[in-house]
Amino acid sequence: MASQICPQCKADSFYWKLDEDESPLIIWDCGHCQYRAFENESDEQNCSKCGKKSESKLKDQEKEYWWCSNCNETELIKTTGNNVYN
Ligand SMILES: [Zn+2]
Ligand SMILES: [Zn+2]
Repeated sequence: MASQICPQCKADSFYWKLDEDESPLIIWDCGHCQYRAFENESDEQNCSKCGKKSESKLKDQEKEYWWCSNCNETELIKTTGNNVYN
């Protein structure tokens, strides 16, 4: 599995893994800054910048945002305060 660009620190060490307890929840972990985000596989849309269907909705402890794995653009949806996923 190729690594992606971390939306937090921009290092090329962002990897996903499936959470087997909460499938289809995908966990993204950055090996560089330890940033972690969660992706709901069912939330995908076409990127408004590159046009590919490679934008995923990611959620971390502070915010929810669209992230394009192709061009690495992010677009904030909302801030979530201290809420955890679900
Ligand atoms: Zn990072
Ligand atoms: Zn894009």
